[in-house]
Amino acid sequence: MDTTLSSEQIKAEATRLGFSACGLAPAEAVNDTTTASFQQWLSDGCQAEMTYMQNYEDKRLDPRLLVEGARTVISVALNYYPETKLPEEEYQIAWYAYGKDYHDVIKAKLNALLEFIKEKYISFTTSPEINLTTTPSPPLPVSGRIFCDTAPILERYWAWRTGLGWIGKNTQLIIPHAGSCFFLGEIIINIAADNYDIPQKNRCGICTRCINTCPTKALEAPYRLNSERCLSYLTIEHRGNLTLDIGQKMGKKIYGCDECQRVCPWNRYSTPCKTEEFRPSDSLLEMKKSNWHSLTEEQYKTLFKGSAVKRVKYQGLMRNIRSINESAESE
Ligand code: SF4
Ligand code: SF4
Repeated sequence: MDTTLSSEQIKAEATRLGFSACGLAPAEAVNDTTTASFQQWLSDGCQAEMTYMQNYEDKRLDPRLLVEGARTVISVALNYYPETKLPEEEYQIAWYAYGKDYHDVIKAKLNALLEFIKEKYISFTTSPEINLTTTPSPPLPVSGRIFCDTAPILERYWAWRTGLGWIGKNTQLIIPHAGSCFFLGEIIINIAADNYDIPQKNRCGICTRCINTCPTKALEAPYRLNSERCLSYLTIEHRGNLTLDIGQKMGKKIYGCDECQRVCPWNRYSTPCKTEEFRPSDSLLEMKKSNWHSLTEEQYKTLFKGSAVKRVKYQGLMRNIRSINESAESE
């Protein structure tokens, strides 16, 4: 019996769970172009201190090595574009980090989607009508795994491959008429689907706004980001001091950077996210520069309880604030 997943049912359930987009593709090796550019990116050292990017290259380039018997990759996107932003005159935090840690929120939704698939699959394979016309055979156990930024998988590639959008020159996944402010997640499963999506064509055209605007020229060329120069990397992942030059380029950014998304014309289509967990707290919205300067570790823990900002730790956040001020004083 050729049991398959219903793509339509999965997408309907993904929408019901709050995902903004969902697409499916056959599980297979990443294409040659992406493989070559990823390997070149690594050999040029663009991963900076994120040496984990060098690990499990075989799995990263072929999701069939992540899940035994993998047949289908399901990609989902969840909107995080904030309805209310931090006041422009105050220090800035990347939009995606305004609310609760997205890993927890997306994993819960992905687990719910995986459970739905398992239940549907079981009811499909045990349907009496099907068993009347085919040779009964015990259904294979459904085996799948969820991913959200925590395993070696090229998430943006799979979002493109499953038809959600295209990868822009700023290296973000852009969903047509919706923008790029989306978290991505995946499910890899050992069942084939009845219908697969086709990739979308790139619609950046002659635009180069993201490249021209990047304060540190981290977008060295279209579709190529050198993490070593990216403020998003430097303010979150990098350990150690920041140079005066970087401090000056940070402007008011104390955690992450949205600049290459802010200027992207496709983000004019962004609509406020409806996920309650991603809303910034009143305490965060009310933070003034003076509050940040005197922030204690205890206050930091309260302000960012359950937030992705905890990744940078208290010392890292205060280093960022210090760097901005030291650069300003040196001018
Ligand atoms: S996040 Fe900021 S620093 Fe990094 S590439 Fe985009 S604009 Fe440049
Ligand atoms: S700013 Fe322009 S070039 Fe950059 S990702 Fe958006 S559309 Fe593409």
